[in-house]
Amino acid sequence: MNAPDMLLSVIVPCYNEERVLEATYSRIRSVLDSKSINWELIFINDGSTDRSPQILDDLASRDPKVFILHFSRNFGHQPAVSAGLHECKGSYAIILDADLQDPPECIPEMLQLAQEQKAEVIYGVRRQRAGESLFKKLSAKLYYRTIHSLSEVPLPLDTGDFRLISRRVIDEFCALREKNKYIRGLISWVGFKQLPFAYDRDSRYAGNSHYSLSKMIGFATRGITYFSKKPLLMATNLGLFCVLVGLGLVVYVFVSKYYFHQVVSGWASLLITIVFFGGIQLLSIGLLGQYLGSIFDEVKDRPEYIIHRKINFREIDQKENSV
Ligand code: UDP
Ligand code: MG
Repeated sequence: MNAPDMLLSVIVPCYNEERVLEATYSRIRSVLDSKSINWELIFINDGSTDRSPQILDDLASRDPKVFILHFSRNFGHQPAVSAGLHECKGSYAIILDADLQDPPECIPEMLQLAQEQKAEVIYGVRRQRAGESLFKKLSAKLYYRTIHSLSEVPLPLDTGDFRLISRRVIDEFCALREKNKYIRGLISWVGFKQLPFAYDRDSRYAGNSHYSLSKMIGFATRGITYFSKKPLLMATNLGLFCVLVGLGLVVYVFVSKYYFHQVVSGWASLLITIVFFGGIQLLSIGLLGQYLGSIFDEVKDRPEYIIHRKINFREIDQKENSV
């Protein structure tokens, strides 16, 4: 399975991961070396403020197969993965979290599956999620099901960014010009033969999750608004429904006044109606705002990330680069 010219790029985004980096490096290395897989390891330091940059530089000085991209600040998980995909040279790339939640031991099997089945993408599907709170598990389940039903491209359930992708797909991905990338969605969007690989997600090796609730909500809304226009249609339908209810109420008021001579009473019901329909209007305007915001971000045409330093990348070493 391991042709001598086959190179596997392992892409690891890191943000304040000083407690795991050494372990991540040695575990990836021992798995790949034991299977005689030719590899390169690209760590993206996403503006860490702990000792991660020094630890990474030290790893790179000990091992020329380790490459580091230091961002100028914290740009986020998705830009970090995107930078890794742009810089990697492998015939295949695998995206792996630094915290060892996605076990590197799965990589050889995923590679074998891709080669045997001639698949361009092998995506990890989480059977179990160890060490994560009930809230995270439930919100993730709900989110994956919502986006699955709304999305205009098929987005597999319970699938994160842990996936093996071929050079063909890497090149297609790198040619995409949108800036706010929702990577798992875009890789599904690219198409070709994509196969699932079931695995159990471990708990974090050390440290805490860097996805705060607000980051999670931001990520989730981006996923939905970038991959589906259905919420806009839902807002329109809801508006239409409200108009019909409103017309029904008008008819009701007239009928009760002129046929049954009832005095209109009940401020409470009036207030509830106003608040309810006001809420729906604000919700729909907010939804429009999300899409408008995405368009605003894209038209500004700013780079996805800025690289401050590159380590071990031969040609352009030490230069300051922006992409
Ligand atoms: N990460 C990153 N930039 C960020 C947040 C996270 O590069 O702004 C990295 C982080 O170091 C880890 C991966 O993205 O390797 C996944 O993050 P985390 O484990 O915190 O998220 P969770 O697994 O809890 O969803
Ligand atoms: Mg994690």
